[in-house]
Amino acid sequence: MRTDVFGPDDPSGQIQRLGAALAAEREARERAEAADKAKSELLAVVSHELRTPMGAVISMSELLLGGSLDGTQRRYAETLSQSARSLLTVLNDLLDFSKLEAGRVELDVAPLDMLALIESTGRELRARANEKGLKSGIHVGMSCPRGVRGDAARLRQVLANLIDNAIKFTAHGSVHLHVNAGETDGKLILRFDVTDTGIGLSEEQKERLFQPFVQADRAVTSKYGGTGLGLSIARRLVELMGGEIGCESLPGQGSLFWFTIPTTRAVAPVASEARVTGGLSGHVLVVEDNAVNRMLIGAYLEEFGLTHDMVANGAEALARLEGRDYDLVLMDIMMPGLDGVEATRRIRKLEGARAEVPIVAVTAHAMKGDREDYLAAGMDGYVSKPIRGRELYAALKPYLSAEDEDAPLVAVR
Ligand code: MN
Repeated sequence: MRTDVFGPDDPSGQIQRLGAALAAEREARERAEAADKAKSELLAVVSHELRTPMGAVISMSELLLGGSLDGTQRRYAETLSQSARSLLTVLNDLLDFSKLEAGRVELDVAPLDMLALIESTGRELRARANEKGLKSGIHVGMSCPRGVRGDAARLRQVLANLIDNAIKFTAHGSVHLHVNAGETDGKLILRFDVTDTGIGLSEEQKERLFQPFVQADRAVTSKYGGTGLGLSIARRLVELMGGEIGCESLPGQGSLFWFTIPTTRAVAPVASEARVTGGLSGHVLVVEDNAVNRMLIGAYLEEFGLTHDMVANGAEALARLEGRDYDLVLMDIMMPGLDGVEATRRIRKLEGARAEVPIVAVTAHAMKGDREDYLAAGMDGYVSKPIRGRELYAALKPYLSAEDEDAPLVAVR
């Protein structure tokens, strides 16, 4: 008898009952976990098996559309093709979700080019926003490095999902993407904010938002479509990358979806162009209003071995020059407020050695006569946009050569 085991200390069998209850609870939990796992595996198998014939449906409808069809046949084939594509998207979501649930997604972490990522995401955002008559914008913080380590495809997937949603739920106004970087406890954190002026969400909707198969509510699902898996996939991916995701919103006014990703700096993989590494030394002030150009210039300067500060217009440049000495100023011409030519004139009128700082113009104008204007304003040289590494290097070298003249220049393909 079990009571013998517990002896006279458990006369009423209380400990025994407790033990049995705990065992039953553990068993139930294990059963639930096994069921969860089986469900995920079933989803993975099913969606995989469905994708193969879906691929054939899509290819065949493309072939059909490429042939000679009359008007009605073409409409049918187009509907077929579009429906097949949206079904494939749903299948991909299901497959992704079940893999994430089963813990079978591994990140492919490598040096990634933030500039390329932001440019391609930005193009997509602009195109989609334009189609719907929405305004859009991409904003990149001064401190955002070009080269970081991360899983580019998964990062793109999360961003695309948030942007998709923002556009889907916004009928009027705008959708913006902000990218910023900051250091916390010595760790580099990227933060992405997608803001819209769409329908917004109530408190209750917000709580359920990142749960699987839940859109804000059924009415929304029927009006806007989709599996409602997108945000729970995004959440799981962000968490897998070690970050956080969240949402702030006011019904009728719009939403802010944000996520953070911890990362480390890396040399940006500049694939399309031979790179020049090292060889220069000095501290450069970059004056440029365009965020993408700032990032591009910053990445080149780092590769050349230069440190830099960034500002967005001529007035900020003058303020910076009050504060410290720079070895060179890289000056954009077209900027809101104080432009590059006027800023240069004012720098040349400053007191002391600051007035002598070499200034190289960065300009989209490569017209004859422009060069004379820049030199008359007090600039020392110029590089033209689009900015290429070798040209920038050649323009900086006369002013910023490393002390060791024999320092090797490494050209990396
Ligand atoms: Mn500009």
